[in-house]
Amino acid sequence: MTAELDFDSPQFRQCLKAIKEIDVELAYLALLTRRGLKPLSRWERPIDDRGLELLRRMGLITKRIERTVKIGRVISETIFSISSGYIQIYEQRFAGKPVDKSPEVQRFEGFLFGFPPCCVDEYIRHPYAKNNLNPDQQKILFHWACRDCKITPLLLPAYQAIYNLLDNT
Ligand SMILES: [Zn+2]
Repeated sequence: MTAELDFDSPQFRQCLKAIKEIDVELAYLALLTRRGLKPLSRWERPIDDRGLELLRRMGLITKRIERTVKIGRVISETIFSISSGYIQIYEQRFAGKPVDKSPEVQRFEGFLFGFPPCCVDEYIRHPYAKNNLNPDQQKILFHWACRDCKITPLLLPAYQAIYNLLDNT
């Protein structure tokens, strides 16, 4: 059993710092997920047991999921969430299944990852279509905002606060 750290404690910040040293993007995803801005996150690069332990110390539930790609090769994904329900939903839908970028899957993943549905739909139709964000705003998001998005501007201050917190850790 891993003891979960209080979000504002110095130990939490140390833990975050240690994840940041592994990978800054992983630390950012972990913090967004821990704060509940993303119901679930997926990490597709390798992560060792120490990395998983650090995520758990932050209060995240982690799970390794095996998928297949063309020619049957098996790849490993790591998912994490504060909700065992989302972990279970992802596992039931994707464990052992081929990686799939169909519109249906992109919509479902968008739902799990906390992406506005308007942005996911626009991305499926026209990937990276011009939007109204400046590059500094777009770069702190994991979805590509749709033009005139009504949801993304509401998310941006929360993402920015977490981005700044990580920057100062
Ligand atoms: Zn949108």
